[in-house]
Amino acid sequence: MFHEIDDKLHDECGVFGIFMQNPDTMTDAARTAFYGLYALQHRGQESAGIAVADDRHIGLHKGMGLVADVVKPYHIDNLRGHIAIGHVRYSTTGGSALVNAQPLVFHYLKGMVALSYNGNLVNTVELKKRLETYGSVFQTTTDTEVIANLLARYSQDDLEDALNKAMIDIKGAFALIIMTEDRMLGVRDQMGIRPLCIGNLHGDYILASESAALDTVGAEFVRDVNPGEVVVIDRKGLRSLQVINSPRRAHCIFEYIYFARPDSTIDGLNVNQARRELGRQLAREFPIAADMVIAVPDSGTAAALGYAEESGLPFEEGLMKNRYVGRTFIQPTQQMREMGVRLKLNAVAEVVRGKRLIMIDDSIVRGTTSKKIVQMLRNVGAQEVHMVVSSPPTKFPCYYGIDTSRREELIASTMDVDQICQYIGADSLHYISRAGMFKALGSEAEIFCDACFCGEYPAGAEGK
Ligand code: SF4
Repeated sequence: MFHEIDDKLHDECGVFGIFMQNPDTMTDAARTAFYGLYALQHRGQESAGIAVADDRHIGLHKGMGLVADVVKPYHIDNLRGHIAIGHVRYSTTGGSALVNAQPLVFHYLKGMVALSYNGNLVNTVELKKRLETYGSVFQTTTDTEVIANLLARYSQDDLEDALNKAMIDIKGAFALIIMTEDRMLGVRDQMGIRPLCIGNLHGDYILASESAALDTVGAEFVRDVNPGEVVVIDRKGLRSLQVINSPRRAHCIFEYIYFARPDSTIDGLNVNQARRELGRQLAREFPIAADMVIAVPDSGTAAALGYAEESGLPFEEGLMKNRYVGRTFIQPTQQMREMGVRLKLNAVAEVVRGKRLIMIDDSIVRGTTSKKIVQMLRNVGAQEVHMVVSSPPTKFPCYYGIDTSRREELIASTMDVDQICQYIGADSLHYISRAGMFKALGSEAEIFCDACFCGEYPAGAEGK
């Protein structure tokens, strides 16, 4: 499924959790989770939820919509407990029904468990079949329920042992926060595809998809959860169990290019810094005779600044974004779709008229939005529009939690660069080279997943 208005790949979930040793009030954990989720709203806008535990019981509130629409102050008043985990969801395997909203809470032999999950398993079908032969019944179509059933199946063991066994069964990309009545656990897939970090708020531990959520709630960044690691947080503090040691790292490179907030640092690399470097690299690869550099805001802004710095050309705000257009606003009527891009972006005629523009964006998915933006700039008198993209052509779907399901929807899978340039109506089109992308990020290709550009899936692709 593609976003109706901005024609971008979309992250599917954000997760947040906090374990408070001595909260001032029993709603502090839920309130902190609310603000943490608020900071992660860009990772999913379709549903939101918070589950809390108070050593005896797990309570839950979730619904469809943005965090602030779903979780009202009177809900927080009822979410009483010293542990809270939360979730924001875009739409994953299983569509957007409320039943698939998270956290998912279930009962098993030893009590209650809540799960918040970001990612995608590549062997769900096989695991589901196996579990059904043992008598499991599924209420949802999410990977999360498969993981819950695996934990239940191993429930004769302690949860930590059950989780160790489940981690060997599940294949794919995941960042998972699990809560029992009295514990919180964080788990990251063995290659570290999806992000998960640990924070500390006045001695209380936090787990979050991105470090920006830690900043928002006033917590300090401690470290990233290691690939293949389980962290257990309880009354005694934090313990680490390195369950799987994989020699291969595969951090999602698209987190740096587009998904994550620029103020987040993931696996040691600041997102804003990464985007600036991608822009600098573009300037080195594609020096273009032009009057100014503009960005498709906000996603192209950091790379455009990098391009401008390296090339010596001025950076100007040639496109303005209406920040108040949310996904929920867009109803999929044809008329609304047509209007969609103009609602969100407008060209600043006084800036671009008569000018030769270098327009930077992070990616081109279907090309429909790029085409409309180029036309919009020409309509107000831009002399030339050269589009420069801070990622290589997106040719392959993601099986690791990003919402590209059909390869034929990706323009670069069916057209070459010249054809795409012609389609979007630009004077020229340039994508960063793969080698240039890795160089800009300052690391070897082997530590990243870039399967949507190269088609090589580090954790496999079968089963979905
Ligand atoms: S395929 Fe692309 S979007 Fe998916 S995890 Fe890999 S780099 Fe990220």
